[in-house]
Amino acid sequence: MSTVGIDNTLRDKSRELVQRHYQELEDNARGKRKVVYLFTTGLIVELFRAFDFSVVYPEINAIHSSRQHRSVQLISDSELLGYAPNICSYVKCDLGLLAGPSKGQAKFGKIPPPDLIVVNQCGCSTYIKWGHALREKFHCPVKVIDIPFIHDDCPTGFDHEYVRRQIEDLIPVCEEISGVRFDPDRLKEILELTSDTIDLWMKMQELGKLKPSPFDAFFEGVSYMAPLTMWRGTVEARDFYKLADNIIRDRIKSNYTPYGRENFRLLFEGSPPWPSFSEFRGMFKAWSAVGVASTYLYVSVAPGDLEFSPEKPLDYLASLATQSYYNWNLQKRWNHIETLIKDYEVDAIIIHSVRSCRPSSVGQLDMRNYFARDKGIPSLFLDSDVADPRFFSSAQVLNRIDTFFEALSQRKKINERIL
Ligand code: SF4
Repeated sequence: MSTVGIDNTLRDKSRELVQRHYQELEDNARGKRKVVYLFTTGLIVELFRAFDFSVVYPEINAIHSSRQHRSVQLISDSELLGYAPNICSYVKCDLGLLAGPSKGQAKFGKIPPPDLIVVNQCGCSTYIKWGHALREKFHCPVKVIDIPFIHDDCPTGFDHEYVRRQIEDLIPVCEEISGVRFDPDRLKEILELTSDTIDLWMKMQELGKLKPSPFDAFFEGVSYMAPLTMWRGTVEARDFYKLADNIIRDRIKSNYTPYGRENFRLLFEGSPPWPSFSEFRGMFKAWSAVGVASTYLYVSVAPGDLEFSPEKPLDYLASLATQSYYNWNLQKRWNHIETLIKDYEVDAIIIHSVRSCRPSSVGQLDMRNYFARDKGIPSLFLDSDVADPRFFSSAQVLNRIDTFFEALSQRKKINERIL
């Protein structure tokens, strides 16, 4: 068991899967398998697994570059190529890596060029521009899946059908590029694994309701997320979450909580500042403040009934594609947060706003005002960036966090006295 709140076995297993992913990409640099680039929001990776594509996830490459402290160099490289300072820093990390002097060679492996780019445009319009910038570099086909925004509580029947047909239209494209015939049974098998994986992933999050919470849904949750995206639809992903379930359930028996005690129960909204991840975590650990719930965990698959099962593979894929948190309207996000506050007995909300990401940061100041002023839930608003550490001012962030928890401690004491 780790002393910093992240289980060593799970961390090592997750790292091993990440390394295997990049090793397989590198082994494939000679082009044995065709390569597709995919985005993680509204992910439908299973379709491409059924055609034996190697999959590159540009956003995940940006995350790993950020965590390995390479992002400033890559962002500068992309700015020298003409990309503006204020666009998404994931985009700049990725284009800096692929189109800059690095020529696709990252510390974590060599990224092969794409044979196909699929822009599953779900909540983020930057994806379109990103896909087109990649096409300019690699001159390969770009296919867009236009995923309608969820205006009500769930996608309409028309929206579902619209997405399903676009997925269906991709089948002959995949057949032609990969040279593999479409086999619906193979796709069903892959989706069965996905369905089991998602069940385990969602159940793991439910454990945050316990008091004390046996795991940190933000700092641990995001650390265990790689298999959910990079390996979804495989035995490896499913087995990872089986292992996570066993390890975290074991903790319950000993009343384990990540920082030794649980002083505050937090809900985290927004993405982590990846280059400063450990430092940021330390700032909360110092107050024994545990993330019991996190909206970031819903980026590639959001809670809610997936109306279809793998028995209807294209329908199931279409519902996976539409169910992302970034594709939810603001009212739906706020309603869900309100439910989490109640169900997880949350003391405060931490909102991490990302300067270069509109889909995640839109409405977050209004959200803070709504929960703090109208609902009386203490809420801390912090802003920095997902990939650019120049926007993370350690002293300022620490000062704001410490001041917030001092006030929260006082408030807790007063409430305890009243009770
Ligand atoms: S703008 Fe936000 S959602 Fe879109 S690619 Fe960048 S970080 Fe991801």
